[in-house]
Amino acid sequence: MMKSNLLEFTQPELTDFMADLGEKPFRAKQVWQWIWQKGVVDFEAMTNLSKDARAQLSDTAEIRWPMVEKALVSADGTVKFLLGLDDGSKVETVLIPEKDHFTQCLSTQVGCALGCRFCSTGTLGFTRNMTSGEILGQILVARRWLEEHEEPLRLRNLVFMGMGEPLLNFEALERSLHGLNSDLGLDFSTRRITVSTVGIVPKLQALGELALSSLAVSLHAPNQAIREQIMPKAARTPLAELMDELARYPIRNRESITFEYLLLGGINDEPEHARELIRLLSRVKAKINLIAYNASPGLPFKRPDPARVEAFQNVLRAKGFTATLRKSKGSDIKAACGQLAANPEE
Ligand code: SF4
Repeated sequence: MMKSNLLEFTQPELTDFMADLGEKPFRAKQVWQWIWQKGVVDFEAMTNLSKDARAQLSDTAEIRWPMVEKALVSADGTVKFLLGLDDGSKVETVLIPEKDHFTQCLSTQVGCALGCRFCSTGTLGFTRNMTSGEILGQILVARRWLEEHEEPLRLRNLVFMGMGEPLLNFEALERSLHGLNSDLGLDFSTRRITVSTVGIVPKLQALGELALSSLAVSLHAPNQAIREQIMPKAARTPLAELMDELARYPIRNRESITFEYLLLGGINDEPEHARELIRLLSRVKAKINLIAYNASPGLPFKRPDPARVEAFQNVLRAKGFTATLRKSKGSDIKAACGQLAANPEE
């Protein structure tokens, strides 16, 4: 029988587990710290536990991280990991270097059911949800890699923007967000965590009420017709309904909702689309992240003309919107947005 993987426990669950072994709650805190702060996988290294406690833990439990099957480093410093999970499933996670820190892009599902037409993950179909331990395990693995490579920059920001739709795996997402928030554990500031969704309306309010992350919405279209064309499943929720829900979304002080807009050459990159986008976002406190599409083999979209991208951005800025053009990183190793396909042959 497989032993319990302690990465799957929330802090209260670990406390209960340790209580069953006859250990006091403060012991569970110590174990939690070993696992999440110090990245220890061997109970023998937990030197502040009694010999007995260590032996009991070894008999009943394990600390199993996702396996790094491959780590590819891009010319711009982006690192893409191919990870193997217990059942042989493969997922990817990406470390993106910024000026003074790294941002990690986390996956939440093996594959994705939504099949957005521009996305390599979408072409895989859906296999299963990831567990909270697998989701958080991606961070342990990346942090270890940075240590081993003596990277001076720290991992500071997290985006739930990798493979899968986080709100279709809400329970594991919620457990992960609580785990991130623990100051004895991974200890990420909630302001440095962003959950990115296509907009799963029944779950949005619940995510907002957790108040454990910022929100990004993968919008990519200024109207229903274009959304249906490029994101047919996500577009089953009419855009009008999504915008109503977002107008009610509880955003925190000084925050706004980020709208991701992937510019696809000849599809959604006209100045008129920018004007439509402005009207669409009139009721929410919005900032806009523009991304110029990276051509991906087998997908029928073009990179937008740079002059069009600039014109699009200018229309938004002229109306007072914060509209940044996100530099696409890691495209040489297929780590850029929408390119994650967990293909071990790459
Ligand atoms: Fe799924 Fe996101 Fe890709 Fe759409 S863009 S298919 S939601 S992973």
